[in-house]
Amino acid sequence: MAKRDYYEVLGVGKSASADEIKRAYRRLAMKYHPDKNPNDKEAETKFKECAEAYEVLSDGEKRQRYDQFGHDGLRGMGMRDYSHMRWQDIGSIFEDIFGFDDFLGDIFGTRSRRARRRGPSRGYDLETSVELTLNDVSKGVEKTIEFTRQDTCSECTGSGCAQGTSPGHCPTCGGSGQVARGGGFFQMVSTCRQCGGSGQIIAKPCKKCKGTGRIPKKRIVNIKIPAGVHEGQGIRVTSEGEPGRGGGPRGDLYCYVRIKPHEFLQRDGNNLVAVVPISFTQAVLGATIDVPSLNGTRRLKIPAGTQFGSIFRIKGKGLPNVRSGRTGDQLVQVMIETPTNLNSTQQELLREFAETENKSVSPKTASFFEKLKKYFGNN
Ligand SMILES: [Zn+2]
Ligand SMILES: [Zn+2]
Repeated sequence: MAKRDYYEVLGVGKSASADEIKRAYRRLAMKYHPDKNPNDKEAETKFKECAEAYEVLSDGEKRQRYDQFGHDGLRGMGMRDYSHMRWQDIGSIFEDIFGFDDFLGDIFGTRSRRARRRGPSRGYDLETSVELTLNDVSKGVEKTIEFTRQDTCSECTGSGCAQGTSPGHCPTCGGSGQVARGGGFFQMVSTCRQCGGSGQIIAKPCKKCKGTGRIPKKRIVNIKIPAGVHEGQGIRVTSEGEPGRGGGPRGDLYCYVRIKPHEFLQRDGNNLVAVVPISFTQAVLGATIDVPSLNGTRRLKIPAGTQFGSIFRIKGKGLPNVRSGRTGDQLVQVMIETPTNLNSTQQELLREFAETENKSVSPKTASFFEKLKKYFGNN
């Protein structure tokens, strides 16, 4: 799930100019275009990755946020969810952002535009993320998410035209969206540059949206997050994406889960693991110790003769399985700390102890040195 660095994805330096970024994207988009790499999932993934990197690095505000805060900085900036998007839709996005010019024509051909103009199309999916604590994960939680998305302009209701006006036929192509060049036998038909193939032009653009029909709008939604979710898991919120075109339905919002690291507990599937230091005497003689758990500390009995790295299981104190709801366990692993800075009394006691040990060495240790002797011989 980890996202790659956008500069790395496009193979450009941090100080790359807008033009360098555009050229790098153009080159890679052509290389990985699914039309050129049929049934190649990896190429498709790369194609989407490049589109996402280009969306950020070609947008001054997003690029600045990314430079400063990395991927986290883009949270709530209305990032599109490229990984769930059909690659065919990616062409339409770049037409919407930049207009349809030779650059995009090279990459996407005219097919995507014709397909899109034919009828209503669904809006784009958006992605955002939410940060949860392990306590949120254990019980499930409702979170309020704020994000910016492109919405239908209220002034022109999405037409892009100033009030009281409507789009007119494009004078260059006469409304067909295509122009013919050359003559006679070898006539070449290409997409009209003035209207971008739509056949219509907006003579008097709406002032509020500058003719795009869309304006960025803040949106706040409440998302119910089920207990047991994992890092990187996406929760789909239907119809909270961008509005569709020509009466098409809204896209969806994918909210990706990030889990804040816990001071003491680590997640291992549905189990929680705590590593706890105990003293040498506690390990030898046994003790009842305080161990961290999700809801404060709890008591745990350590038996006499506990070995370094031993794991104790507290049943049912882990995290719930997101599907079955069955709860995992908490595991406590003990690390034995060798005492340092002993005072003279303590040193004396341990010396005495060591002497008694020489008379009756514990069986495990004895067998180890026996084996060692046998292995290297007596010398
Ligand atoms: Zn408008
Ligand atoms: Zn035209």
